[in-house]
Amino acid sequence: MTAAAVRPGKSPPAMNRKHFLVRPGRRARLKDFDPSFTGPYRDKERAEEKLAQDIEEVAKWQDVLYAHDTHAILMIFQAMDAAGKDGAIKHVMSGVNPQGCQVFSFKAPSAEELDHDYLWRSSRSLPERGRIGIFNRSYYEEVLVVRVHPEILRGQKLPPQESGDGLWKDRFQQINAFERYLAQNGIHILKFFLNVSKEEQKRRFLKRIDTPEKNWKFSTSDVRERQHWSEYMKAYEEVFQHTSTRWAPWYVIPADHKWFTRAAVANILLWKLRSLKMSYPSVSKAHLAELKKAKAMLLAEKE
Ligand code: ATP
Ligand code: MG
Repeated sequence: MTAAAVRPGKSPPAMNRKHFLVRPGRRARLKDFDPSFTGPYRDKERAEEKLAQDIEEVAKWQDVLYAHDTHAILMIFQAMDAAGKDGAIKHVMSGVNPQGCQVFSFKAPSAEELDHDYLWRSSRSLPERGRIGIFNRSYYEEVLVVRVHPEILRGQKLPPQESGDGLWKDRFQQINAFERYLAQNGIHILKFFLNVSKEEQKRRFLKRIDTPEKNWKFSTSDVRERQHWSEYMKAYEEVFQHTSTRWAPWYVIPADHKWFTRAAVANILLWKLRSLKMSYPSVSKAHLAELKKAKAMLLAEKE
């Protein structure tokens, strides 16, 4: 369980998933998404209550997901540094059974990974049926950091192909096709961009520098990447426009208040789990008869 316990009495206000959704096919402009938005919550307490309540229900659904053994959920997290990916993952998954959950963090590809196509390392990290898989960064880096630093492409050993805009359009299509294939095979994708403002990132970096226990989290390359802020935002907008689909939508989650980010992500996960309309598998007559027999045997034991 997370910080706040579920209190009896008046329920915390509902969250509206559609505030954060990038509508498929629409041009998405980040200036239309306020990083400090907190919806119906004026303070942390009510949002934490909502988070606790939703996490409790997520945990119940996760058990059904596991038993049902047909669907999997893949949650993809993308963001600028210090937007709170790690904290969101930790809090949202805090109530779930670790056996039903797996997290992969994707860094710059290794030599072995570069010997394969760019989706290879993701394919082998996909969640099994019945599980919730989390990608902390993902193949979207291939149209983000690689777009902002095109020199990375030279190390990718690519065959002759489109260059410039054509290459990114091709990658968007490849990603959409990959995600559609997954969705049709029961792997349901939720994509979250944690939308932190440039000012808030600066505050968090300064805190990491000034707090000894947080020093390890800071690297000077983070400040270098920050200098490319507007190029990243442009690349993200293109990603949203071209890859927010019916089968794998993007959600732009306000990230200047960590307590709100966590509550919003948990609520969207819960919505998805509910929408799958799963139930525990029904037991056959033969199996019920076996259960009865086993019970009789147990009760008949002498010691
Ligand atoms: P944190 O900083 O919160 O610990 P992080 O996800 O930023 O988490 P880092 O080790 O700082 O982790 O950074 C990982 C780096 O790997 C990021 O700069 C990211 O852009 C880079 N990366 C991820 N995938 C690729 C890729 N396919 N090609 C090139 N770089 C990549
Ligand atoms: Mg980092």
